[in-house]
Parts: sequence; C-alpha cells; structure tokens
Amino acid sequence: MPRVYLDHNATTPVEPEVLDAMLPYFSAEFANAASIHTPGQRARAAVETAREQVAALLGARPQEIVFTSGGTESDNHAIFGIVRNAPGASKHVITTQIEHEAVLNACQALEKEGGNTAGNRPAIEVTYLPVDSSGLVDPEALRDAIRPQTALISVMHANNELGTVQPLDKFGKIAAQNDIYFHTDAVQSAGKIPLNVNALGVDLLAISGHKIYAPKGIGALYIRGGTRLRQLLYGGHHQRGFRPGTENVPGIVGLGKAAEMARQSLAEDAVRVSALRDDLERGLLARVPQARANAAAAPRTPNTSNITFPGIEGEALIIALDLKGLACSTGAACSSGAVEPSHVLTAIGLPPEEARASIRSAWAGTPRLPRSRSRWTLYPRPWPSFANSLPHIRSSYS
Ligand code: PLP
Repeated sequence: MPRVYLDHNATTPVEPEVLDAMLPYFSAEFANAASIHTPGQRARAAVETAREQVAALLGARPQEIVFTSGGTESDNHAIFGIVRNAPGASKHVITTQIEHEAVLNACQALEKEGGNTAGNRPAIEVTYLPVDSSGLVDPEALRDAIRPQTALISVMHANNELGTVQPLDKFGKIAAQNDIYFHTDAVQSAGKIPLNVNALGVDLLAISGHKIYAPKGIGALYIRGGTRLRQLLYGGHHQRGFRPGTENVPGIVGLGKAAEMARQSLAEDAVRVSALRDDLERGLLARVPQARANAAAAPRTPNTSNITFPGIEGEALIIALDLKGLACSTGAACSSGAVEPSHVLTAIGLPPEEARASIRSAWAGTPRLPRSRSRWTLYPRPWPSFANSLPHIRSSYS
C-alpha cells in the first residue's frame, strides 16, 4: 500500500544530505567540541559552521545562536530566563491562548512559581490574549494588555495546528516602543516562510531541528545581543555559559545543514507545497459540502491545512485514513482515554464537538523527491477515498 505522510508539523524525516553531513561526527570525528586538541578543534569548527548556517536562516549573527535540545528547551529558556531575571516586586507576561504547550505550560509554571507582593517572592501574572476566528492576535489587544510590570511578550510565529502566521513585525514594534522583551516560538515557521529577526523585531526566537529535516533532540535559541537572560541549566562553560552541556555535535551539524537547505529552497518550495495544499482543500470541500477549512483566509504556512468535518469523530477519521495509508492528525490531545478538544480550535471559536471533528494535514515543507522521500508519495492519491470514507465513520451526517 502506498503510504502518504501528511503529518510534517508533528515531525519530518531527516534529509539524506543532512544525515550524510552528520555521519562523520558519530565516528571518525567523534571528538568533544570543547577539547583543545586537533580532533576537538575540528568538531568545534563544524559547530561554528552550523551556527553560521542557522544564523543565516534567521537573519541573525552567529554569536546570537545558542544550540539547545529542541523547541521546548528553547521556549523554556527564553521565558524562564527573561522573567526570572526581570527586576521588580511583581512581573507580568503576555502570551496568547493558542501557544504550544512548551510556552503555555512554562507560563503556567511561572504563575505558580510567583508569590504575592506581600511575600518575599515577586508575584507573576500572565495574560493569555484571545485570537479571532482565523487564529490572529489583534495588535491593539496586545497594546492594551501591557502593564508597567510587563517583562515579556511571547507570541508564536506560525501556529502548529492552523498554520496561521501572526503579524509579528507589528507586535515587535509595540514591544520595542514599550521596552519589553519579545519572544517568538518559530518552530513551525522556520524553514517554511522567510524569517528575519530584525524585520520581525524579536529578541528571542525558538526553532527545532525535527521540524526542518534535522534530527529530533536538537534546536536553537536566538538571543539578541545584549538581552539580559538568566541561564536555564547550570554546568560547564559550553556555549559561553548560556547553555552548558557537552555539545551534540552530530545534531548541531544536522541542524546547520538543514537550515542551509531550507534557506536555499523555501521560496520555491512554498509555491509547490501551497498548490498541493490548496488542491486538497478545494477537492475535499467540493466533495464534502459541510466541511470547512479553518483559517484559510489568514496568512498561513504553505504546508498546513486544518479542516472541520462537522459530525465526524476526528480520531475515528484518523484511524480510517491510516488504514488507507494516509497519516494525518487531529488537533486534539489524547490523555488517559479522554479526548480533550484542541485549545487552539476552541480559541478560534469552534464548539468542542467541531474541534474534535477537525483534521490537520501538513505537507513536507521542502519536498525533494524522489531521493529523499521515496517511501512516501507526495500527492495524497487516496484523497478521493478520503472523502468517500466519511460516510462509513460519520455519526450525524445526512
Ligand atoms: N513549539 C511548537 C509550535 C511546536 O509545534 C513544537 C513541537 O511540536 C514545539 C514547540 C516543541 O518542539 P520540540 O519537539 O523540538 O521540543
């Protein structure tokens, strides 16, 4: 059965060229990049080349890039690092209701970490901004939420479920006018759409390797020069003390190579990938009149589609599609057998039953078939049967 993988927002395969670049650093070039001997210096040189490649993808300077274990660590480092370092008897953070858990749960942990102004720990409060029906944050709502104690604004660049791209440049201006640090989770935008930290006005930006054809367990945090950030981990002097721990040289080399490849091809890929996405949406909406493409009118990453099929149980549809060889996902998280509706889809106004009836398809951002993904066909050929399978699993369709 030909399989179609449409879950590239969950993770991507490692590109063969990325793997080729990494392989020597597992064996012949295994040295510790902190060692001063010649093999160590060769590993160091590879790490520094990767830092330049990642910086080039983001329009940053190499010394502003810190390698981490992935998007979650990068987001946590930015959020805890800024807020714990901020002065004052009370602190305030502004974020949005549609952030990834890496941001939402970090903010919730901060709220618990904070005391109250009467105690000896500063109180920490977080404002979770609402979004409109496309998942967009209103810049005026952001401006209105600012308080004298606001230490950090954290707004994701592209949403992982909808693909909605926020007008970060507007938020960056507001943050700068108010002298507030601005962090963005760019895990789902890096490598898919052009990104420039200066044009966006961000001070901190998180990316993850496994969303851009590098391995899992490697990521990076952009930290604008001069940003006052407390470190998250304590240990040796690696990465100038910003992020101690022996560097993951193969992972870093892979992230660098993937960043370079994405930079070179993302504009061309976006045209090709969005055509596939739009084609699928048109076809499905024509066959299933009740279906709706969420956030379709908003600026979106080219690879992401989120469709609600009212009356369908999303999990059941995922299983039915899987049996047909099509790998997609729901926006819903599953915990101990209970399916919670997606916080993103409820934030854009979908009732819980419609949020549960929604399917995310995410194409490869940088398809370089046939060599790289010969196991997967790019075009979802089974999609006519995708639509045809609906009657077998729908509960309330007529
Ligand atoms: N932020 C977003 C928007 C994501 O989609 C993800 C992963 O799904 C993360 C953060 C976490 O990244 P990582 O898996 O590298 O920890």
